[in-house]
Amino acid sequence: MIDQTVGRLAPSPTGGLHLGHARTFLIAWLSARQAGGRVVLRIEDLDATRARAEAIDSAVADLEWLGLDWDDGPFYQSRRTDLYDNALSRLRDAELVYPCTCTRADILRAASAPHAEDEGPAYPGTCADRSAADAATLGDRPFAWRFRVSGRTEPVAWDDLFLGRISIDPPRLGGDFVVGRQGAGASYQLAVVVDDSQMGVTQVIRGDDLIPSTPRQILLYEALHHAQPQFGHVPLVLGPDGRRLAKRDGSIKLATLRDQGLDPRDLIGLLAHSCGWTDHPAPSSPYHWITRYSPSSIPATPWVLPEMRTNHRGTEAQRRQVEGGGEEEKEKAREG
Ligand code: GLU
Ligand code: ZN
Repeated sequence: MIDQTVGRLAPSPTGGLHLGHARTFLIAWLSARQAGGRVVLRIEDLDATRARAEAIDSAVADLEWLGLDWDDGPFYQSRRTDLYDNALSRLRDAELVYPCTCTRADILRAASAPHAEDEGPAYPGTCADRSAADAATLGDRPFAWRFRVSGRTEPVAWDDLFLGRISIDPPRLGGDFVVGRQGAGASYQLAVVVDDSQMGVTQVIRGDDLIPSTPRQILLYEALHHAQPQFGHVPLVLGPDGRRLAKRDGSIKLATLRDQGLDPRDLIGLLAHSCGWTDHPAPSSPYHWITRYSPSSIPATPWVLPEMRTNHRGTEAQRRQVEGGGEEEKEKAREG
């Protein structure tokens, strides 16, 4: 029997979804739909301090507004922590993780998906001499569980649906990475791997700012003996000024466009145009593009947003939003 394709939409309900998310979600959705596959919706609300109820509702409303539907879910990571804890125990039992007492910032940050701008310097392995059992000797000291990457000699490689073969040498993996926190359960990297395998996801399509996470997740698939999905990383969307869209201030939020009365079919037409499926953006639904989609059609370079030219009320406000997009910092190296 040939396994069915299962794709997923995995929004983090933190800062509001923007046009970059819309484009990535459209591509992920089309890839699954074209294969006659299923689509899973998973809300990545593990970081309870940042994920708020309104933000979850808003993310779901954004997807409905775009016309992207799903077959399974929504599943909420915040309600699946037992599964992640089990996986963490398995890693502990196999001595693949050790307790790290280094920095509070590392520990706190680990719950949410690290995007390229969050990649810090490689972890130097300060606590790597510890065994998992040493956690019992730490008393009240807070610690994170780090997965041992040091010692790996082979590159971690995958055939990316859009970018071709990607191979990352061990020194570029960013060092031992956080998979959990004492008292607070698993981190993003582990939760995503557990979920994608448990949900039968066969295609992980996401923004290319998550490329540094992929080799880490591949190592976790290996450690947990789960079958790996295919990975596809969609190039970024840049504002008309050439700067990247961020969830922070000034990005073009879908919720704002929705409130301003933009016709989502205009937006889908624009996204289809950005992927080269049509010469002229025309109002359309996601279903219209199922046959036209192909992985090779996805441009390997970032999409620079045009000034929005639409005929809905609020164009002026929206144009100002578009122009205010982006952020100061330069995009860092893609591979961490
Ligand atoms: N929830 C993550 C985000 O919105 C995406 C995680 C993933 O696709 O693996 O940034
Ligand atoms: Zn440490």
